[in-house]
Amino acid sequence: MPANNNQVSLRLQHHSLWSLTDSSECEQEREDNVTTRCPTPLEKLTTDMCQDEKTIKELTMGRRVGFYKVRGQIGCGNFSKVKLAFHALTKDKVAIKILDKTRLDLQSQRMLSREISNMESLSHANVLRLYEVIETPCRLYLILEYAGGGDLHTKICTEGKLSDHDSKITFAQILSGIKYMHDNSIIHRDLKAENILYSCNACVKVADFGFSKRVRNRNEVLDTFCGSPPYAAPELFRDESYIGPPVDVWAMGVLLFFMVTGTLPFRADTVAKIRRCVLDGTYILPTWVSAPCQRLIRGILKPDPSERCALDQMLGCEWLLPVDITHPTQPTNKLDPLRLVLADPGDLSRDEQEARAALEELGITDEHILNNQGKKSRSPVTGVYRILMHRVQKSRGVECVPSISGVVKDPKRDSLRAYRSLRHTSKLCILS
Ligand code: AMP
Repeated sequence: MPANNNQVSLRLQHHSLWSLTDSSECEQEREDNVTTRCPTPLEKLTTDMCQDEKTIKELTMGRRVGFYKVRGQIGCGNFSKVKLAFHALTKDKVAIKILDKTRLDLQSQRMLSREISNMESLSHANVLRLYEVIETPCRLYLILEYAGGGDLHTKICTEGKLSDHDSKITFAQILSGIKYMHDNSIIHRDLKAENILYSCNACVKVADFGFSKRVRNRNEVLDTFCGSPPYAAPELFRDESYIGPPVDVWAMGVLLFFMVTGTLPFRADTVAKIRRCVLDGTYILPTWVSAPCQRLIRGILKPDPSERCALDQMLGCEWLLPVDITHPTQPTNKLDPLRLVLADPGDLSRDEQEARAALEELGITDEHILNNQGKKSRSPVTGVYRILMHRVQKSRGVECVPSISGVVKDPKRDSLRAYRSLRHTSKLCILS
């Protein structure tokens, strides 16, 4: 049913409210158009957001945030709550990290802005994506990719250590994500099993970029101690400064140890005692861990950062040889929808063309995109675009879990089976 003139002008007024249109000289033309056709999904949504009582109530009560319908809580952090939500236009599931700005001190605000700008610049199958940021006077909402498969820490604490096969597949993906981050000059600095999430299809996602740091070069000297003590490299306890990449590498060694044994290599009940253990550098690797995996762990957990295995060495190590670790990365310039309008159409990839067609179907036009330029993740248009791009990429298998080619022989299989029957031992992991 065609809309009447009143509805049309309200709709246009509302669009400007959400800054999704609109040059005034085009208004008359647009009004004429709108009166003669069905509203697009975007027009319908924005109209509902200012006219529909139920929608307005949901917005006021926090059951809707921007274009997202908020559902139940799925987690909480120090300063945040994480809730499940759905995009009202695309229907995709997302996770919303909600932060109370009034509770953030200066340092937390700095961490948060780093988290946003570093996540903003990354796009990889094994790195949790940031789609959009919404800010109100009291709250900040980070709209994140939903990783519904839980975290690695909970998985190991409830199900026991991972099999050699699953450890390979999980570690290969973490390695792929961290290599991509380091190649893009970002150091994570808080790698731990709690920050490794699984998506619903078991794809691994490195998450929580609160401590991450963009470096000018690989050898930039850093001096802020961060991370969790059981995963902290000895230089963090020993020296006044450190180089970023080897600190992530050390934490990956601790993670790998945790995956294959179900316990942490350096554990104690106080930070001071953990520090002693890490500085002593002694840990006991169970003999049933396969020899190639033992060699990798020993190559990583070297007290001297300059002797520690580099990521490229890990990629070529014997233990990971049977794993197919090819994860195509997406150039980061493709995270901004503006490219769809400014680039030569012939330069757009197939994914971008598909995402553009999906945007058009929802009623998001070139004009909406142009009106949102410069806003990066603080724009609903960017949010929809990133969700659609991600969907397109997933549909062509970008996130498939790596496979292991050939039969991987494990000479210690029998003792491994015996260990599995003692699964409860893995619950004794101590993390502070
Ligand atoms: P954080 O505040 O980032 O430490 O997150 C707190 C908890 O929320 C985590 O331990 C996860 O269980 C959950 N969580 C955080 N981000 C996501 C996400 N993107 N998808 C699913 N669950 C999440």
